[in-house]
Amino acid sequence: MHYQPEQDLLQNRIILVTGATDGIGAQAALTYARYGAELVLLGRNRGKLSQIADRVRLEGNGRVHHWQLDLNTTNAGDCQMLAHEITQRLPRLDGVLHNAGVLGRIVPMIDQAPEIWQQVMRINVDNTFFLTQALLPLLLKSDAASLVFTTSSVGRHGRPGWGAYAVSKFATEGMMQVLAEEYRGQNLRVNCINPGGTRTKMRASAFPEEDATLLKTPADIMPLYLYLMGDDSRFKTGISFDAQPGRKPGAAE
Ligand code: NDP
Repeated sequence: MHYQPEQDLLQNRIILVTGATDGIGAQAALTYARYGAELVLLGRNRGKLSQIADRVRLEGNGRVHHWQLDLNTTNAGDCQMLAHEITQRLPRLDGVLHNAGVLGRIVPMIDQAPEIWQQVMRINVDNTFFLTQALLPLLLKSDAASLVFTTSSVGRHGRPGWGAYAVSKFATEGMMQVLAEEYRGQNLRVNCINPGGTRTKMRASAFPEEDATLLKTPADIMPLYLYLMGDDSRFKTGISFDAQPGRKPGAAE
């Protein structure tokens, strides 16, 4: 995507990022901070979380908050408690990037282990939804809030072996569409980003044989992440965007 944001694109915007401790989420947090946002970082690993918070603080405007949240072990009540704590500290949220996710195991449906299936659904779908539900009142306090989910090409067209992960991303697309329709015409837009093959640890575990240097880096795909959090996308809702349009799914190119 060719998009040249103004340097103050995210001035006075408060943005929450899940899975902010690595890969695309860490890059998004740093990028949003550089464009002026105040950040709320969520992650499951306390050490990695405070490291990325320090980097965001240095590279942005200094305003960063972080909370530990493991989407594998949390539940709807914990998400409500977290939202309550955020409400004590911040007046609203202008953006939420649901980026955290897990791959599970790439095996045919007949071999999907029930516990891995349920873990993928818990992290990628159930607790992502419970967190969304808890954060909606904070988003609805913004005059132009942006809720962004992370999808995948296997969440649009099934691919053999991608089992729980693919099904969880179909669910993500559905969650986005239902919410987008529920808030159409109001101050909340809801969209998905499909990053496309990107050089991260998740990609390396899915395609251990490929030459990762052929892949885009998280930094390369940030224009779409910025576009969807800034005012230029204000009237876009219910859309599943590609960060690498035209890219052939599954291929390193
Ligand atoms: P990474 O594995 O590099 O990062 C995933 C992030 O999610 C990490 O911060 C990780 O935490 C966090 N996370 C994992 N499990 C949990 C949990 N139980 N609770 C809280 N946080 C958790 O993956 P990517 O950056 O590649 O992926 C980001 C998103 O993009 C995912 O939703 C993925 O499905 C999607 N995507 C990625 C593609 C790619 O090619 N990279 C292609 C298509 C979609 P920790 O740092 O502790 O591991």
